[in-house]
Amino acid sequence: MSELLEAAAEAGRLDAADGLAALRERFVLDDVVYLDGNSLGALPAGVPARVEDVVRRQWGELRIRSWEESGWWTAPERIGDRIAPLVGAASGQIVVGDSTSVNVFKALVAAVRMADVGRDEILVDATTFPTDGYIAESAARMTGRSLRPVTPAEVPSALGDRTAAVLLNHVDYRTGRLHDLPALTAAVHAAGAYVVWDLCHSAGALPVGLDEHGVDLAVGCTYKYLNGGPGSPAYLYVRRDLQDRFDSPLPGWNSHAEPFGMRPAYAPASGAVRGRVGTPDILSLLALEAALEVWDGVSVEAVRAKSLALTDFFLRCVGEYVPDGLVESVTPAAHAERGSQVALRCDDAGDVMKRLVERGVVGDFRAPDVLRFGFTPLYVGFADVERAARVLAETLG
Ligand SMILES: *Cc1c(COP(=O)(O)O)cnc(C)c1O
Repeated sequence: MSELLEAAAEAGRLDAADGLAALRERFVLDDVVYLDGNSLGALPAGVPARVEDVVRRQWGELRIRSWEESGWWTAPERIGDRIAPLVGAASGQIVVGDSTSVNVFKALVAAVRMADVGRDEILVDATTFPTDGYIAESAARMTGRSLRPVTPAEVPSALGDRTAAVLLNHVDYRTGRLHDLPALTAAVHAAGAYVVWDLCHSAGALPVGLDEHGVDLAVGCTYKYLNGGPGSPAYLYVRRDLQDRFDSPLPGWNSHAEPFGMRPAYAPASGAVRGRVGTPDILSLLALEAALEVWDGVSVEAVRAKSLALTDFFLRCVGEYVPDGLVESVTPAAHAERGSQVALRCDDAGDVMKRLVERGVVGDFRAPDVLRFGFTPLYVGFADVERAARVLAETLG
C-alpha cells in the first residue's frame, strides 16, 4: 500500500515537471490509458476539420484545380520535408507515399542496384518485422542475390566483399530494443555495402540522425509515432548524393522527369521525386500533413528524454506492484538500447491484454507471449503509466 501511494505521488510530481504535458491538448483523447501509439497513433485535434476542408472544398468545389491550387501534386515532397527534421534529414531527401512494405521494396532493390555486380549477398535483420523479411526474400530473388538473415549483433561479422546491401530495423517491434544505427551504418559502409534502415518504431519517438550518420536509404510508416491515421502513407529517404543513382524498381509516371509529357520511354526525375510511383493518396496524405502540425515547436530530443523517463517509471512501477516472477521485461534496461516501448513476457499474454483493455489500459499482444506497451511522449503522462502498472498488477493478481 505505501508503495502504491509513493509511486502515485511520484507520478504527480513527474507530471507537474513535464514540459511536454500541455501537448496532450493537441490530441483527441478520453480517459483510457492509450499505450498503443506505436501501432496506431491517437487522433490529432486538427485533423478532422482539415479532412473536412480537403473533401468538401478542395475536392468538392475546386475539383481538378486542386492538383495545382491546393498543392496536391507536390504534397509527397512537401510533407517529406515536414518529416525530415524529425529524422535528422535536410530537405529534399524524403518523399511520402505508398506503404512501408512498398518502400522497403523500392529501397532495397535500389540499394542492390547501386552495389557492385560482384556483390551477391543481401543481409536482412533476422528479427525483423515480418513484411521486411518477405520483401527482402523477393528482392533477393529478383536481383539474383542470395539472402542471409542475421541478427543485428551479427551484422559486423557477417559483412564482407560479398555484401551488396543490408536491411535493418532501427527498433525491434517486439522487444523494443534500439539498435546502434551509427555504428552499424559505419560498419556496412566500411565493407563497401549499402544500408536500408526501417524507422517504423523510432521516427517520432527518438532522434534518428539520418544525415549525421550518413545513412544511405531509409523508410518508415507515419501511422505509429507520427499519428498520421490508419493506413497513412509511408516515407522514403534517399541520401542526396545517392539520388542520381537511385534506380527505382517501380518507375511510375509520377517519378518521370516530365510526367505530363506522356512519353513512351521512362526518364527519371531528379531528387526525392524519383521515389514516387503513381498518383498519391491525397486524402491520407493531407490528413497526415495536418497531423504533423502537433510537432510545431517540439524538439525530438525533449521527446526522447520524456520517453526514457516514462519507460523507466513504468518498469519501476511494474517492479513495485507486480509480484516477482509473473512478468519478465524483454526490453533492454540500458537507455542506449531502448526504444519507446516496454515489452513484458507473461503467461497467457493474449488473455491478460484483453482484460487490460477492458479496464481501460490499451496496449497490445504480440505472439507468442508478449504484452507490448508503447509510450508516446506527446500524449502519455506519468499518472497514466502508474495506472497502467497498477491495473496490470491487479489483473495478474
Ligand atoms: C509497422 C511496421 C511495418 C508496417 O508496414 P506496412 O507496409 O505499413 O504495413 C513495417 N516494418 C516495421 C518494422 C514495422 O514496425
